[in-house]
Amino acid sequence: MDWLTHLIWYDGKFLGVDWSIWKVIGWLGNVVFASRFFVQWYATEKLKRVVVPAGFWWLSLAGSLLLLSYALFYRGDSVFIFAYAFTWIPYIRNLIIHHRHAAAHLDCLACGNSCAPHSNFCCSCGAKLAPSEKAAV
Ligand SMILES: [Zn+2]
Repeated sequence: MDWLTHLIWYDGKFLGVDWSIWKVIGWLGNVVFASRFFVQWYATEKLKRVVVPAGFWWLSLAGSLLLLSYALFYRGDSVFIFAYAFTWIPYIRNLIIHHRHAAAHLDCLACGNSCAPHSNFCCSCGAKLAPSEKAAV
């Protein structure tokens, strides 16, 4: 079991990493950024079609900002900084588009189902949708 002790804690390092607050921020950024793939995978498996939920873009934004902070304030590495300097732009744009699309959905008064924008009939119960049924988000 000595090998296991050395693997976990050795020479003052946990898992071989010399921890500092910036290492925590960098690893947290990695975990948050990587977790977006599991969120997208779960959403796709749940609906049995390829979907990208808003949570994917929120995790992308949070993870990339943590990694950008790590790159800027700890590493000072221009390659690493450039890799995350502009990724927030499409993440925020996709969140805006996602919000606008969700706000444009129509609520069916007959069954309460949320229907795709510009739908004429409810995809759940078939009732005719009126423009006044537009959801207020
Ligand atoms: Zn309906």
